[in-house]
Amino acid sequence: MPELPEVETIRVGLEPHLVGRTFDEVEIADPRLTRPFDPREVAAELVGERVQSLDRRGKYLVVRFESGRVLLIHLRMTGSLLLLRDESAADDPYRRAIVRLDNGSDVAYRDVRRFGTWLLLEPGELDPYLAERIGSEPLGRSLSARSLTHRIVRRRAPLKALVLDQRLFAGVGNIYADEALWWARLHPLRPGNELTPEELGALVKGIRGALRLGIARHGATLRDYRAADGAEGSMQSEFRVYGREGEPCRRCGHAIEKTRVAGRGTWYCPGCQV
Ligand SMILES: [Zn+2]
Repeated sequence: MPELPEVETIRVGLEPHLVGRTFDEVEIADPRLTRPFDPREVAAELVGERVQSLDRRGKYLVVRFESGRVLLIHLRMTGSLLLLRDESAADDPYRRAIVRLDNGSDVAYRDVRRFGTWLLLEPGELDPYLAERIGSEPLGRSLSARSLTHRIVRRRAPLKALVLDQRLFAGVGNIYADEALWWARLHPLRPGNELTPEELGALVKGIRGALRLGIARHGATLRDYRAADGAEGSMQSEFRVYGREGEPCRRCGHAIEKTRVAGRGTWYCPGCQV
């Protein structure tokens, strides 16, 4: 948390307020956000940068500046970005950074657990940085059952671990992995190399369907996640398996079970995920 749909919801909410604006003042209060770099130096470097676009790759927010530089933001566990219109003076003990834009509005970065990161990249550094860490976008055209075959066919790891692999499915985390496997009717412990072409197709469809539903519901708010305007998401009321141990499956009525796969709490339906 937050995963692709939550980050995308924040991106969509911020984009019209950020693009074309210049960073007038930047204050970074938490050195963990920019380490190993000095937060004051990063803040000073950001002042005067004008935003060209706000993109997303996997769970990263990509703030592209007209200078060619990029501010790469990862929200990790509990990070969020909030637009503060008039009530910018409100005290928030979890505010780690604040950006004053040239139209007078503020964007605040909030993070309870403090695992989030801000990384300022020079022109040309973004692509190699991301290429080392994440694969293609699961909602993009390059992902297909055929493109997955050669990457999954040799892997005996359980399906849940493969779906969480950011090099295979950038942006998918624990919630949407469980939901995707339910939609695909696939058991989280199935070894990847046992999947038939039809099942690979169902997996791609399940992942896309779960992510699209998450975006349509503006993400899932379990605790800290908020959209850029402070609103909660409603995906949590659409969960088919995640967090529903003992409750009936909405497809077959069997009680949802919880197990651990690859160190992560994993929910599935033993009735229809074979
Ligand atoms: Zn079921």
